[in-house]
Amino acid sequence: MPAGVDNICVVIGRTRHKMIQVEIIEASRRGARMIEVRLDFLTKAPDFKRLLAAKPCELVATVRRQQDGGRWTGEEAERTILLRQAIVAGFDWVDLETDIADEIRRFGKVKRIVSYHNLREVPHDLEKIYEKMCKQDPDVVKIAVSAQQPADNLRVLDLLKSPSRPTVAFCLGDMGFPSRILAARYGAPFAYAAFNKERTIALGIPSFEEMKDVYHYHLLNSDTQIFGVIGDPVAHSLSPVIHNAALQQLDINGVYLPFRVPRSGLQSFLEKFDRFPVQGYSVTIPHKEAALRLAKEKDPSASRVGAANTLVQRADGFSASNTDYQAARDSLLAHLELIAKEGETGQSMPFPNLQGWKVLQLGAGGVGRAVAHMLRDEGAQVVIANRTHEKAEDLADDVGCKAATWETRHNIQCELLVNCTSVGMHPNVDECPVHPSYLHPDMMVFDTIYNPESTMLIKEAKAHGCTVLTGVDMFVRQAQMQFLLFTGREPPRELMTKVVRRALSPVAMAVEE
Ligand code: NAP
Repeated sequence: MPAGVDNICVVIGRTRHKMIQVEIIEASRRGARMIEVRLDFLTKAPDFKRLLAAKPCELVATVRRQQDGGRWTGEEAERTILLRQAIVAGFDWVDLETDIADEIRRFGKVKRIVSYHNLREVPHDLEKIYEKMCKQDPDVVKIAVSAQQPADNLRVLDLLKSPSRPTVAFCLGDMGFPSRILAARYGAPFAYAAFNKERTIALGIPSFEEMKDVYHYHLLNSDTQIFGVIGDPVAHSLSPVIHNAALQQLDINGVYLPFRVPRSGLQSFLEKFDRFPVQGYSVTIPHKEAALRLAKEKDPSASRVGAANTLVQRADGFSASNTDYQAARDSLLAHLELIAKEGETGQSMPFPNLQGWKVLQLGAGGVGRAVAHMLRDEGAQVVIANRTHEKAEDLADDVGCKAATWETRHNIQCELLVNCTSVGMHPNVDECPVHPSYLHPDMMVFDTIYNPESTMLIKEAKAHGCTVLTGVDMFVRQAQMQFLLFTGREPPRELMTKVVRRALSPVAMAVEE
């Protein structure tokens, strides 16, 4: 049995009593010491005797209304009766929304969570609402509001700096995810996690496993260093999985978070989050070029490529690097070497280097810039096609190669096709950046996309007899280089590869869906 985790409240919402009972037992077996039972999920009237029969840990009774993100659609009077019944039935905690908290008095030893939910925004008078809630005889005040911009996380976390009552405050949604984890730095009494990641439980809520096994929430404190990935979208990035595993393995008191930052918001985000400060960022779609512009120092890898995928905090600002260039190179060359060893190459393929190879590169974004420079440096003859043709032309000019229009990409003959677009990336997994008839057995196909590993392009390429290289090896390599830049420590290479492979396995992906 795993050690108990005291500061994560596991939320269970099921339509049937039987399933609630099963999940309570299972959650406690996995280490939960506090479980919220969402009575509003039940399709029948709650049978408290059944629900409390085998109570392995502290239980919270909650009947959440639709307007607050729950499923309760009945009368308010009926709901308050239910809450009163739950209190006397033997729950350890009861969750009372701020508008009804004054109506329902404290009873015996039952602890009170006074809560406020706002699914639309962070209201302008949040601090006033909070002050009022602190006076409603709470054991814990809970605030859950919807983040509309990254800075909303900070506004909510501010409530935790010197709380007048123990406070759990966080933002809903993927933009608000950092606040759920960063609350630990301020000593929030607990955080919420879902037993199973049913989206309907709460917007952006992580699973219990994610909370403890990926973010190690129970180990975080005011000294925890912060790292993260900036992107939009970012929810499906595997960077948190790989970096948190490495931090944990090396016993570094740090946490790595996904920060969803809209395209035009990078500068303001970096300035505002500097208050922690954040020690290092991985940078992904669509911020790689802006990250380079905003950095104080730029190492040659980033300046030359014109895009940064890494920002490291220095005394006077961020230093930008690009680990995509080296990772793409190492990954391709290692693959060629492997093919050479196994003798699987077609006759038309010169190797084990890229000298003279005819390459069609699709995409001229952040990764495209790094890959095009690398291919050119390795002596390949590169043609770049990009949906926005001017970007292909600009990059081709920079690199010293040719550009073709997106529409004419199928007319380009190549030995190596490299996909640096996001076409086929999760969730648009049924898209392919070329027509399958373009693929033939003498072609090698390198798709830089790593999520999913087996993209439609990779599947079609295999079906057409091409040699294929997926983006996973490159992803792991670029993350390892970033880890070294972030921490100055040698990354645990094997472990990082293992956790990414595990996260990308069909079973893990199915659970994630
Ligand atoms: P980015 O800077 O936003 O560039 C996106 C590229 O995709 C641009 O060339 C864009 O063309 C093109 N694109 C987007 N939608 C398209 C569509 N519907 N049709 C045609 N082209 C389209 O992103 P990035 O950072 O370069 O990332 C690109 C891909 O690389 C991502 O899918 C990511 O998974 C992968 N990646 C892999 C690794 C790795 O280590 N394996 C690392 C980073 C990224 P426009 O210029 O016309 O918009």
